[in-house]
Amino acid sequence: MDESTSPVVFDTTIPAHLLIGSHETAYKHAFAMVQSKLCMQNGCQTCVSCRMVREQQHHATMWIAPEKKYTRDQFESLFEQLSFARDDNDPFFFIIEKADMMPPACANSLLKSVEEPPAGYHFIFLAERLNGVVPTIRSRCAIHNLALQDSSYSNHPLFDFFTSTAFHDPATFAKAVDQSGITEHESKELLDALLSHWISTYRTAVIEKSSELQTSCMKIISHFSDAHAQPPMPGSSKLLWKDLFLSVKGV
Ligand SMILES: [Zn+2]
Repeated sequence: MDESTSPVVFDTTIPAHLLIGSHETAYKHAFAMVQSKLCMQNGCQTCVSCRMVREQQHHATMWIAPEKKYTRDQFESLFEQLSFARDDNDPFFFIIEKADMMPPACANSLLKSVEEPPAGYHFIFLAERLNGVVPTIRSRCAIHNLALQDSSYSNHPLFDFFTSTAFHDPATFAKAVDQSGITEHESKELLDALLSHWISTYRTAVIEKSSELQTSCMKIISHFSDAHAQPPMPGSSKLLWKDLFLSVKGV
């Protein structure tokens, strides 16, 4: 793990975690999370346990990836594994890759296990895009937005307009949009980053039992989801952001 990336805090009292980020980043974090629990020295990187985790060979891990696409059969060994009793001192980790490629039927077969795994079992889902993950899985996981940490989009000039509570008047915003020269591609990435940000904020609001923040998060998420479902046509990016600003800020 390079120093610029802060590791995900692996709270094992949460049954399932969803890591959103590039393939490489999500892997790196998944290794670190599992190593921190299976290594006697909290993830030293050099012992046999740490190495076995990294090589995806550790006996207390099961990595599941789609061949071309996921099928129900691929989860048979997972369900078989779950039938063996363990305890919290003898943890086992399922790492499910490309969770954004998991069709609803597969995801639904997992729901009960993900929600209340038997003692000792933990789930880590990896995905590049939060939006591609089936909502029923998403809602049962602690979401870690690695995409925000390793993407330059949190530094995008428009990001702060949509994440801070500071007041900006529409004219200031319109000027910023024009200056940013944002493209269609950048718009999609920025929408992803903002959606991740607000879903993460919503989860925090739930944990902190702040119903007011939950309500405003829900509203904002629905605006971003709508925009995400209809990506900008060529030449319409600036308009998309100006419209979004008006709906999100309710002005
Ligand atoms: Zn180690």
